Amino acid sequence: MHHIAIIGSGPAGYYTAEACQQLFGDSVHVDIIDRSPAPFGLIRNGVAPDHQTIKGVSHRYEAIALSDTVRFCGHVSVGQDVTIPELLDMYDAVVLATGAPSDASLDIPGADLPGVIGSAAFVGWYNGHPDHAGLTPDVDGKAIAVIGNGNVALDVARILAKSAREFEGSDIVAHAREALTHAQPRRITIVGRRGPHQVTMTNKELGELGKLDRASPLVSPADLPPIEEDAVLDPSHRKSVAHLREFALSRATKPITIEFDFFAIPVAVEGNGKAERLIVERSTLDADGHGVGTGERYAIPADLVVSCIGYRTPPIADVPYDEGLGRFANQDGLIAPGLYCVGWARRGPTGTIGTNKPDGFMIAERIAADIPQGAGKAGRAGLDRLLSDRGVDVVTFHDWQKIDQVEIDRARNGAPREKFVDVDSMIAAKNG
Ligand code: NAP
Repeated sequence: MHHIAIIGSGPAGYYTAEACQQLFGDSVHVDIIDRSPAPFGLIRNGVAPDHQTIKGVSHRYEAIALSDTVRFCGHVSVGQDVTIPELLDMYDAVVLATGAPSDASLDIPGADLPGVIGSAAFVGWYNGHPDHAGLTPDVDGKAIAVIGNGNVALDVARILAKSAREFEGSDIVAHAREALTHAQPRRITIVGRRGPHQVTMTNKELGELGKLDRASPLVSPADLPPIEEDAVLDPSHRKSVAHLREFALSRATKPITIEFDFFAIPVAVEGNGKAERLIVERSTLDADGHGVGTGERYAIPADLVVSCIGYRTPPIADVPYDEGLGRFANQDGLIAPGLYCVGWARRGPTGTIGTNKPDGFMIAERIAADIPQGAGKAGRAGLDRLLSDRGVDVVTFHDWQKIDQVEIDRARNGAPREKFVDVDSMIAAKNG
């Protein structure tokens, strides 16, 4: 019997568990440990609430969670309730699938002013993550700057611009829906330090921006390279750029404008005790495609600045860490004998949810090659003893199903659920 512990119940964790099931069959016990009482990580806390189709993948994870070989142990904090050395004593392999839930820092003067928020916190706020539910972002500001040219920047701009009607059928939490739908932003600026050919925004997501009830996306035609140059792009990227070209032909006909400000490197946030403007330096591309400043500076009005510039994996005690890369130090997923990482915790915050599937299989195969035989370790019985001795109130998958049902029952009309936004309420729901 192999005993495997996976830390983190997001896509990387569940795909790894699925791969272990397929490789080891009945001769494996997998425990998926998560500090949250709710499973599915990024699916619940990161995927935009108006992207319910993407969230549907959690049904696949549910099937894995309900099998005999895989167990969910929620409300267990690794590093606090149980340490990595203790887990390594009890399991043949420990896999860190903890994602990248911390913001990369916006390292410019004024970034610590009130009104400057990272996307992890902002997305956590509208998705009801207990760590960020108490945030009170000034979404009513007349002008909002969103830094970054990736899909997270698009999610943030779209959510800021949506009307109450457009949130129907979403699982946006009540506090965010209230604040956002009563807010009156006028101007949202998406700030990119490079140009339209360098965006990492994808075609479908850019297309959504052109169909919003109350916002018009705008691109300055002067920022677009000659259309013949699109031929060098891969087909999906070319479709993204085609949307930007459409936006360059459109006019501001709706109450909110979403302006793409390309070739603009953020250099400071200024304001009297709070963010009032983002100062940027005009950039141009060097021979390697990097944005380099031209010395010309200007101000973008911004009562709220949301930086969507990437994420980092928080370190865990006793685990080697690469400060520069912001993730665990690893060689193709191996950190140390018996200790592995997978998904964003291994490779950084890139790729789609599906990218984690081959990642999970790669790690499971690696475990099978490195550890062909289980070493007769204590496994889940050992973990249960230790957590019971420490008085940890473990949330099982069946407990989660009770919480899930209460969230579904309290949904507003047409919404899939109304999430609990604090851990105590989830525990109370589990206890009936
Ligand atoms: P991303 O695609 O890597 O975009 C990060 C953006 O931040 C880039 O435009 C980058 O510019 C910019 N940036 C980095 N440092 C900066 C700085 N100091 N100043 C100004 N700009 C800076 O990452 P992401 O948007 O966080 O998304 C993470 C992953 O999740 C991606 O794989 C994304 O596709 C995925 N995702 C998917 C969906 C979806 O499918 N619907 C939704 C959300 C996220 P440079 O290019 O110049 O470095």
